[in-house]
Amino acid sequence: MPTVADETFTRIDYLARALKTPRIADMARRLADQAVRDEWTAPQYLAAVLETEVNARDASGTAIRVKAAGFPAPKTLAEFNFDHQPGADKTTLHRLAAGGYLTEAGNIVFLGPPGTGKTHLAVALGVEACTQGVRVGFGTAAAWVARLAEAHQIGRLDQELRRVNRYQLIIVDEVGYLPFDAEAANLFFQLVSTRYEHSSIIVTSNLAFSQWGHVFGDQMIAAAMIDRIVHHADVITLKGASYRLRHTQITTLPSIQAEQGAQ
Ligand code: ADP
Ligand code: MG
Repeated sequence: MPTVADETFTRIDYLARALKTPRIADMARRLADQAVRDEWTAPQYLAAVLETEVNARDASGTAIRVKAAGFPAPKTLAEFNFDHQPGADKTTLHRLAAGGYLTEAGNIVFLGPPGTGKTHLAVALGVEACTQGVRVGFGTAAAWVARLAEAHQIGRLDQELRRVNRYQLIIVDEVGYLPFDAEAANLFFQLVSTRYEHSSIIVTSNLAFSQWGHVFGDQMIAAAMIDRIVHHADVITLKGASYRLRHTQITTLPSIQAEQGAQ
């Protein structure tokens, strides 16, 4: 039986089509959950829906958000060769690009050896989110931790976490390339737990979850972190040899052997 909410959204669908702004119907649905969760007033909800539409229409706004995100190099899904990467399903990636996970504060995890396209796909989804009016922040795990550590040192960790949480999406690249000391592990844990069920994270790692204990120096912290990240997440495991080395005969980099062994 359709609920009152279903009927309201059906009506919004109709009205948005009449206004020739189908995206508003989409945004109305998406932001309704967030509005309840964050206790927005009705005017705040309306403003958020309209603002997202205005942002999305504004191509220069997209360019500003892409720049502000700090991506290492712009990448798109269109540039990604899915035939070369059996671990990434094109349909799944296009579903994710549509951004539904952002509404649900869902996460995405890309695992796999170096050069298999983890950063490429994470950035491509980040760019898509920017075009949808979403504020995105990109950084390596080490960079996010350094930012929090600096704030922590001057007693402003809570303020900094709140600032980071103004990004509706953060991308945390390269979890596992550098091991964390106890303070870094603790700061990273706080980052993950303040966003939990609130706003989205895309994480990339060259290490299987079973290896994360080594990165964080503590099995319990690693387990608690993985639990929060994966609870509402798409986990995509990329496979194979490095795309960077595809035209070479090199398939036996020590790192590739070690990481494939770890999968
Ligand atoms: P990772 O983050 O897994 O180490 P990257 O995403 O940085 O790998 O990929 C390395 C390089 O190869 C990048 O320039 C990326 O754009 C390219 N690349 C990787 N996989 C693909 C693919 N399947 N199709 C097109 N380009 C790819
Ligand atoms: Mg990478």
